[in-house]
Order: sequence, then structure tokens, then C-alpha cells
Amino acid sequence: MNLRNLSNNELLQETKKIVVKEREVLIEVLHHLKEVDHRKLYLEIGFPSLWAYMTIDLKFSEAAAQRRIEAMRAIRELPVLEEKISSGALSISNVAKIQTILRQDKKKTGQTTQTAEKLRLFESLEHKSQKEADFFLASEFPDALKIKESVKIKSETENELRLSVSNEFRKKLDLAKSLISHKNPNASLVETIEAALDILISKKDLAREPAQKANPQKKSSPEQSAKPAHQSLHSPPQPPLRRLKRLAIPAKVKREIWQNAKGQCEFATAHRRCESRYQLEVDHQMPVAFGGGNEIENLRLYCRDHNRYEARKATLL
Ligand SMILES: [Zn+2]
Repeated sequence: MNLRNLSNNELLQETKKIVVKEREVLIEVLHHLKEVDHRKLYLEIGFPSLWAYMTIDLKFSEAAAQRRIEAMRAIRELPVLEEKISSGALSISNVAKIQTILRQDKKKTGQTTQTAEKLRLFESLEHKSQKEADFFLASEFPDALKIKESVKIKSETENELRLSVSNEFRKKLDLAKSLISHKNPNASLVETIEAALDILISKKDLAREPAQKANPQKKSSPEQSAKPAHQSLHSPPQPPLRRLKRLAIPAKVKREIWQNAKGQCEFATAHRRCESRYQLEVDHQMPVAFGGGNEIENLRLYCRDHNRYEARKATLL
């Protein structure tokens, strides 16, 4: 169809039709995402989360992926929202705003919002612009909106970090400042936070130990060192005859695992390695229940979701 040949009226009508179609497709996308999430398929193909799968494989922007995930979860909980989104009464941006704020509110109060109250909030944002929605939510949740955090890129070498912190946090910051005063008597806020972060990273990021401590036998590139998800050791798992005792993995071995994995999830398929740095755990390739031990060859670094995914698979064998 050559749009130039359409009259003004026809063009406006066509535009409206296409927009309706776009919303129908959006609902389809949300249903597909719901099913992918239900089957946890993103784990199977090497992504640590639905969000990672959507931003990397489906090429959504970070914000667009997040909006769709929030809308998908909202529809899953309250199916009545589907019609409101598909009719255009409720935008997925406003749905995402409510979902985020309810999560913050739950974190703060420890209480889940009742369904009727949730529906009232969603109804209140129908046919509202983003600005109107912000205004409404600020009046409903004055405290939740105060805990905003932001990171802005100011230049190639500078970032602006904005945080709203509690009195407790301020006290900890003052204490940290006095603790480093022997080295830096007039430490700025940035220097104090950076010193605290350095201590945390040196303690928690086991992959940052000097490279010479790593096992020279092991390959060093992330791709080469990645351990295939379905690799089985020596022999197929035998059903446990008795409950085997899980022994703590020695710190030295743990450190070596972290260094070999470069502090990233080692779950890998033929096409990609997960590489998540979030919630990493040392996993037994051959489960302890099937006689797997703490030998370095039987250990690998997985993110928590891939660790659980493998554990679920092992119990289904
Ligand atoms: Zn992973």
C-alpha cells in the first residue's frame, strides 16, 4: 500500500487500525513471555533471567523489556488487565509504575496489597498520561517514591549517583570515614564509599585473587573454561543408597573455582555461556546425593537460577 495515495481521512483511519493491531500483537507478546517464563526456557538457552533473554536475544531496550515483564506479571495475577491494555485504556508504562511501587511498598511495610486495592490503583491510572500517573502515585505513596535511586552518565569518566539514605546509613558512613581516617584524614564521601567497596570486593569477589594462584592446568578463557550444562562425569548418576554427607568446600578450592570461572556463571550451551555475576554459587556437577564430592573437577560456578535449574533436572533423572 502506497501511503501517499491515501486521502487524509483514509490515512488517519489506517493509522488507527494499525495501532489497534499493534496492541493485539503486544498482548500476544505478553502471553508468549508468560509461557517462556513459566517453562524457564531462558535458563535452558543460557540466560540468567527473562530480562537478560529479552534484552540480548529479543533485542528489547532495558526499559522496554522491564515494562513488558511487569505487564506480563500484572496480567498473570489480574487477568482483567488484559482487556484494559488491549483497548489502550491502560498503558504498559503505567502498569509497570504501579507494579514497581507496590513492590517497594511491600519491601517497606512487609505487607502485600489486597487484590481489590490493586484493581483500584490500576483503574485510577486508566487513560492517564505518564505525568498524571506520577502525580497520582506520589499522592498515594509519598514514602515509596522517596526511595528513588539513580545513576546518570555525566561524561566519559564521570557518573552522578543519587541516593536517598536512612539515618542508619549516615551513621555507618560516618563510622567508615573515621575507620579510614588514619590513612585519609579528610576522606570525601566518594573516597569513603570507595574504600568500603574495595574492602567488600576484596573479601567477596574470589575471582580477583592474583592469577598465579589459579590452577595452571585449567584453561583460562571464559568460553574455554565454561562447563557444558549436560556434561556428565565418569559414569551416569547412580541412585543414592544412603544419605551422603555434604562437606563444606574448602576456601582454597572455592577461590580456584571462582578464578577459573572469572567470577561469572559457567552454565553453557553450544551457543552461549550465561556469564551472569549475580548470586553465584559453587555447584556440584555430580550432585552430592549421587556420590559427587568436592574435587575441583566436580565443581563449577553457577548463578543461583542455573544452579536450581540443574538441581531440578537431576531430580527428574
Ligand atoms: Zn547462569
